[in-house]
Amino acid sequence: MAEKQRFAILGFPLEHSRSPQIHQRAFKTFGMDAVYLKREIPPEKFEREISRLKEENWRGFNVTIPFKEKILPYLDEVHPVARKIGAVNTILVRDKRWIGFNTDWQGFLRPIESALSRFERCLILGAGGAARAVGFALLQKASALQELTVANRTLSRANALVDVLQANRKLQYRVLDLPSADQEHRTYDLIVNTTALGMGAMKTMRPLDLRGKCHEHTVVYDLIYNPAETVFLRQARMLGASAINGLPMLIFQAEEAFKIWTGQPFGEALVRELTETVGN
Ligand code: NAP
Repeated sequence: MAEKQRFAILGFPLEHSRSPQIHQRAFKTFGMDAVYLKREIPPEKFEREISRLKEENWRGFNVTIPFKEKILPYLDEVHPVARKIGAVNTILVRDKRWIGFNTDWQGFLRPIESALSRFERCLILGAGGAARAVGFALLQKASALQELTVANRTLSRANALVDVLQANRKLQYRVLDLPSADQEHRTYDLIVNTTALGMGAMKTMRPLDLRGKCHEHTVVYDLIYNPAETVFLRQARMLGASAINGLPMLIFQAEEAFKIWTGQPFGEALVRELTETVGN
């Protein structure tokens, strides 16, 4: 009899991760004999735990905060796109070889596909792993993009991100700290929050005041999915902008990972079901 296929998410902390719920549901839908576990790894034990996991029988992993960048040297192969982004969120284990992929950038694009061709001026708030995937995605697919601003609390991190992006596509790039982005009177076609401001202990905070930043077709996209409507998105809605939260990205990055592991897309019915159940 074939052995049960084992998958897990690697991160710290993992208390609030929705990935097990998404993938267990998908395994059930497609009648797969598979389990999806949480492997919470204290950062100081990372190296030892990865060596241990490599000795065990796994089919794949998701990787989340704070290991998406740290995992790279431990992989046997890294997909060129993940290498370019500098972050891996999905691992396929084939013949004991760990192969790293990034599916965050594809997940990010799915809910804005129909609007992508009109984004000329974009603002990314934050400069961590998620911002790298968002920046890469926009450079790949936002064909009309002319100007990209990265605003982050730590300016050096925003500069480092823009250095990487600049090497991929020539555009006008701007780097700001968050207070300067807040004070500017300038409108954008797309504003993306990739900072942690708006979730957990920072639930009442937002990265900037959107007044004066939106026109009637601005899309405001917050990668946070819990709460479903952050303070930032509430303001976007009040201002009449289109507001998108992080739930579709979460589901679609999971679908891309599932396709890498099994070759199987989720399909519309499962996406609909996950949209209704995972956010709550
Ligand atoms: P990360 O690499 O740790 O980056 C965190 C970012 O948040 C950095 O830009 C950091 O600024 C900023 N930040 C943190 N605390 C801040 C504060 N008090 N004030 C101002 N800025 C602050 O994390 P990540 O992987 O990029 O993830 C970022 C967010 O995206 C998380 O909320 C995560 O849940 C979300 N995410 C969602 C999805 C999805 O599928 N929906 C996928 C990936 C990530 P500094 O550089 O100054 O520290």
